[in-house]
Amino acid sequence: MSRIRFSAIEQTFNRKPVRIEEQGRRSDIYGSQVFGKEAMLQYLSKEAYKAVKSAIEKGEKISRDISDQVAAGMKTWAIAKGATHYTHWFQPLTGFSAEKHDSFFEKLPDGDVLEKFGGSQLVQQEPDASSFPSGGIRNTFEARGYTAWDPTSPAFIYETTLCIPTIFISYTGHALDYKTPLLRSIQALDREATLVAKYFNRNTKKVLPTLGWEQEYFLIDAALFKSREDLILTGRTLVGHPPAKGQQLDDHYFGSIPERVLSFMRDLEIESLKLGIPVKTRHNEVAPNQFELAPIFEEANLAVDHNTLIMDIMSKVARRHDFEVLLHEKPFEGINGSGKHNNWSLMTDTGKNLLSPGETPMKNMQFLTFFVNTIKAVNDNEALLRAFIASAGNDHRLGANEAPPAIISVFIGDQLTKVLHQIKNFKEGKLTPDEKTDMKLNIVGKIPEVLLDNTDRNRTSPFAFTGNKFEFRAVGSSANCAGPMFALNTMVAKQLKEFRKEVEALIEKKGLKKDVAIFNVIQSYIKQSERILFEQDGYSSDWEKEAKKRGLSNNKTTPEALGAKIDKSSIQLFEEMGVLTEEEVHARYEVETHQYYTQIEIEAGVLDNLVLNHIIPTAIQYQQQLVDVVSGIKELFGKDYKEMAKEQLGILSRVSYLINEVTTHVRGMRNALNKAASIDNSGKKAMYYAKEVKPIFDLIRGGADELEMMISDELWPLTKYRELLFTR
Ligand code: ADP
Ligand code: MG
Repeated sequence: MSRIRFSAIEQTFNRKPVRIEEQGRRSDIYGSQVFGKEAMLQYLSKEAYKAVKSAIEKGEKISRDISDQVAAGMKTWAIAKGATHYTHWFQPLTGFSAEKHDSFFEKLPDGDVLEKFGGSQLVQQEPDASSFPSGGIRNTFEARGYTAWDPTSPAFIYETTLCIPTIFISYTGHALDYKTPLLRSIQALDREATLVAKYFNRNTKKVLPTLGWEQEYFLIDAALFKSREDLILTGRTLVGHPPAKGQQLDDHYFGSIPERVLSFMRDLEIESLKLGIPVKTRHNEVAPNQFELAPIFEEANLAVDHNTLIMDIMSKVARRHDFEVLLHEKPFEGINGSGKHNNWSLMTDTGKNLLSPGETPMKNMQFLTFFVNTIKAVNDNEALLRAFIASAGNDHRLGANEAPPAIISVFIGDQLTKVLHQIKNFKEGKLTPDEKTDMKLNIVGKIPEVLLDNTDRNRTSPFAFTGNKFEFRAVGSSANCAGPMFALNTMVAKQLKEFRKEVEALIEKKGLKKDVAIFNVIQSYIKQSERILFEQDGYSSDWEKEAKKRGLSNNKTTPEALGAKIDKSSIQLFEEMGVLTEEEVHARYEVETHQYYTQIEIEAGVLDNLVLNHIIPTAIQYQQQLVDVVSGIKELFGKDYKEMAKEQLGILSRVSYLINEVTTHVRGMRNALNKAASIDNSGKKAMYYAKEVKPIFDLIRGGADELEMMISDELWPLTKYRELLFTR
C-alpha cells in the first residue's frame, strides 16, 4: 500500500500545468454550443421559432408538426457542429444527471443509411427507468418511465452529443426527477407572485424565481485521489489525521491560484461558456485546495440545469488536468467542508427584481411585500426547508461551526431590522392622510437609502438577505439545487396566496385602501415571524438554547430532518400548490432515507476494510519492529533493559492498546450493521444508522488517526492529509 502512496506522491511532483489556448474572446464563444435564440433564428422557420418562444414564455404546448420542424432544425445545427449522437438529458433522484446516447445514424429497411432525428425523438424517449430510484412509485404501477422535452431549457452539444434537457416521469405521470417539481413550483410561484405583483404594477405578466449559485469544491491530484480507497468509494476520507498546518493562517483564501489549478479553471470556464453557463468568478476558498466557482444568476430552471451540468463537466475537465474534483460536503476532517450558496430572488417579465426597492413609494412597498412574505414563508416552514438540505454529506457540515447551523434562521442586517421594527410599531388599521404620508415618507420611502448601506453580512446565517436577494447558504455542495429551490418556491407561493387573501379581506370587510391593507398585513407578518430573525453568531451554543426557546427546530441528522417532509402540513402544502402529490412526497422520502443509510452502510464497509486490511496490519508490523528492538535491547543490556527501552515500551504498549481498541470497535460496528439488516421500515432504519452505526466511525477513527501519528511514516499505507491537501 505504501508503494501506491509513494508512487502517487512522486507522480504529483512531476506534473506540469496543461497549456490552455484561449479560443477567441469569451463573449464570442459564449453559448456557441447552445441551440439558443441565434441558432434557432438561423435554423428554424419563423413559425417554429415563434412556437418555441411561446412555449418558453407562456408555457404553450408545441404541436406535433412544429416539433418535427424543431427537431429537423436542431439536427441540422447539431450535425453542422459535429454532433453524431443525441440524448435526453435528465436529473433522476440519484443526484447525478443521466443520459443515454443514441446515434443519429439509422439504417432503412432497404439498406440505405441516413441521419435521423424527428419530432418524436425530440419530444419523448423511454430510458430504462428501472435503474433509477422511484421510491416505490414504479413498482406499484408500471415499470416504465419516460423523458419529455423541456423547451424552457435550450438543447446543447457536449463533446459530440446533442443533449436535450428533459423531465423524467412515470407512465402514471408521477415525477421521478428533480426537475418536474421544480417546473411545477415555478408555475405555482408565477401564478401567485404575479397576482401580488399586480397590486403594484398592473402590467406585470409573469414572475420568475432567479438563482445564482456559488459552487465550492476541492481539487485533488488524480494519483493521490486514486491512492485512497475511501475517496474513490465514498467521496470523503474516513480516516486521516489533520495536518499540522490546516487553514489557521487563512492564507489560502483569495490567495494566488496555483498554476495547474488555474489552467484547469481556464479550461472549465471555456467549456462552460460554450455551453451558455455564464461563469464569472473564481477564487480560492478557506481550506487548502478548496475553490469556488460562480456564474451570473439566471432564471431558476436554467440555473439548476447549469449547476447540474457543471458538476458533471467539472469532473470531466479535471481529469484532463490530472485532477479529481471532490464535491462532497466534508471530504476532510478538521478542514472546512464545501457548500453551495443559492442566491434567490424574484424577477418580473420586464426584468425587474422584486427584492430590490425602486424610485417610488409603491415600488418600495412592493419590495417590502416580497421581502416580508419570504421571511414569513421561511418562518412557517423552517423545519421543512431544513429537510430539503439534508443529506449524509451535509450532516457533517451543518452545525459543525464552519457552516450555518442545522437551525434555520434569517439574517437581514441592522438597517432592515430597524425598518421592520418601525413598521411593527406603527399605527394599525385605518390611517389619516397625515399618517399615511408619514408612513410612506418616513418608513417605506427610506428603504432605498437603507439598502445602499446594507453592507453588514453575517457569514454564520443559513438564510441571509444580501441587498437584493436572499442567500440560502446551507445547501450542500453536491446537492441538486432543485430540491431546496422548489421547496422555497412552493412555500413562498403558498405564502403569497395567503397574503392576497388577507389583503382582500381587509379591503372588503374593513374598507381599507389597498396600500393601507397591504401595510397592515405586512405589520402582522412581521409580528408573526419575529422568531426566525436572528442577527448574531449562528455558530454559538447560546443560539442553540435561544432557538429552542423560540420553538425553532434543530434537527442535526438527516433522518430526523427528513421527517418534516412527510408531515401532514408539508404534504398539504405541496398538494395545494400542485408541486408534489402525497404519493410523490412519500416516494421521495423513501428514496432519501434509503440513500442516507446506504451511504452510511458503504462508508462502514470501506472503513472496515481500510482498518482491518491496511491500518491494523501496518500497526502489527510496527508492533513487531518494536518487539524486535526491545528484545534486542534486552539481549544487550540484560536486566537494565526497561530503563533503556522506556520510550519503545511506551509506544509498544500504546500501539498494542490501539490495535485492540480499534479492532473491538470495528467488531461493534459489524454487529450494529447486522442488527440494521433486520429493520425494514426505511425511516427507522435510517435513524438506526444515524444513532447506532455512524457514531462508531468516530471511535474507530480516533484510534486509527492516533496510530497514524505514532507509526513510522515509511510504513504508513494511506496517503496523508498533508500530501492530499498541499501537493499540487
Ligand atoms: P458573495 O456572496 O460572494 O459576496 P455577491 O453578493 O456578489 O457574492 O453575489 C453572489 C451571487 O449572487 C452571484 O453569483 C450572483 O449571480 C447572485 N445574484 C445576484 N443578483 C441575483 C438575483 N437577483 N437573483 C439571484 N441571484 C443573484
Ligand atoms: Mg455567497
